[in-house]
Amino acid sequence: MENNRQAGDVWQAVLGDLQLRVTRPSYETWLRDTTGIAYGDGEFVIGAPNTFVAEMLEQRMYSLISQSVERVVAKGVAVRFTVISSNRAAEGARGGGSHNGATSSGAAKASGSIPSREPAPFAAVLNPRYTFEAFIIGRSNELAHAAASAVSDSPGSVYNPLFIYSGVGLGKTHLLHAIGHTLASRGLSPIYATTEEFTNQYIKAIREGKTEDFRARYRSADVLLLDDIQFIIGKEQTQEGFFHTFNSLHLAGRQVVITSDRPVSNLTLLEDRVSSRLAAGLVVDIQTPDLEMRMDILRAKAAGTGRQFPDDVLDFLAERVHKNVRELEGNLNRIVAYAQLTERPISVDLVKRAIADSLKTSRRHKVSDQRILDAVCSYFSIDVEVLKGRRRDKETALARQVAMYLLREDANLTLKSAGAVLGGKDHTTVMHACVRISSRINADADLRRDVINIREALAK
Ligand code: ADP
Ligand code: MG
Repeated sequence: MENNRQAGDVWQAVLGDLQLRVTRPSYETWLRDTTGIAYGDGEFVIGAPNTFVAEMLEQRMYSLISQSVERVVAKGVAVRFTVISSNRAAEGARGGGSHNGATSSGAAKASGSIPSREPAPFAAVLNPRYTFEAFIIGRSNELAHAAASAVSDSPGSVYNPLFIYSGVGLGKTHLLHAIGHTLASRGLSPIYATTEEFTNQYIKAIREGKTEDFRARYRSADVLLLDDIQFIIGKEQTQEGFFHTFNSLHLAGRQVVITSDRPVSNLTLLEDRVSSRLAAGLVVDIQTPDLEMRMDILRAKAAGTGRQFPDDVLDFLAERVHKNVRELEGNLNRIVAYAQLTERPISVDLVKRAIADSLKTSRRHKVSDQRILDAVCSYFSIDVEVLKGRRRDKETALARQVAMYLLREDANLTLKSAGAVLGGKDHTTVMHACVRISSRINADADLRRDVINIREALAK
């Protein structure tokens, strides 16, 4: 097998080609977060962020993708999909510099996994979609929004630093970019960086003896927008660098805006002098959106897709998807892509199929053990009594393990009760089954298809 880097380069070229051949929502939903994993011996391995995407690519885009790969490498290649779990990607990112680039930074992950290229340092990497105009205001975020616009109107004078915190996908990065756009349009030079980028640049500067350059560049900023400060926790060296950068900007009356996934008081392991600096300005949070706001968001985002979303579909989504805005958006994109691929109009029925996976997680408790047993048995065509019994041929054993896995994952049963439901199996047996299925599910396309099909049946 050739090294990852070549696979990465080939895949970038393939993605470029595919971008011209599929619609933008399809691209965004299915292809954007894929990576080229390995290439050689007539085989090209593509990494997908989750089983659902891997499955869709395999079932619906296989020939399109393999043709495109062939165009790029100018020879016949067998294409294979594998799941790269986001956990692993995140661990790789946290592991720091010693990894040979597989996921050298979160930025690479966010920008569609171009592993070997570093983001241009200090470049204003603002997402053009993240503007104040596109930001929907509701009860849960009105304070954060008001503070962000006040800071954009008069940077450095009102709330300094501004500290925004919330759970994931609730609009912190969006607000930070919106501030950046507004200031840049007025001729100021904001610097936006994720704390991870900041850390990497700082450590690199130390290694190369260029900390003065590092400080000078940051000090030249009119405004510093630093995303996800929690990344700095426990990194003493970076805290030092941050503290000095922050102080010199602050002393010079420059605005600093910081986001975090938790409140300042929970940023334990942050040096006291750093956390008291952060808490000294204005601290605002963003809560999860209420139903009314979820409807507003869905209406706005649905209009942006250019597709017709009937009201009952939006109601259905607003009621069921409520973790965060990113999830709402992701589901809309997925539905649009699903409708396009299957050439069907958007309806509640289609939505149930398109987002079965994510409905499942939000409805976990509602799946009864009996329904799981029925669904597994009917899928594998075996009798419930056989499933609960002692037979150990390959097929029965597989069905039983899948049942154990689903009883745990989707019905939230304890190991013990899952064992009991299956005719009194020992809890260690259940545990082994769950470990086995969850470790195989990523690599084994057949098993993945089995589980997805059963879950689709359960979602109906
Ligand atoms: P965070 O940084 O808090 O994890 P993001 O800013 O990345 O969240 O937001 C996730 C997605 O949801 C983005 O695509 C963003 O545009 C969108 N989003 C979040 N809040 C809003 C909002 N109030 N109005 C419109 N879009 C939003
Ligand atoms: Mg963010």
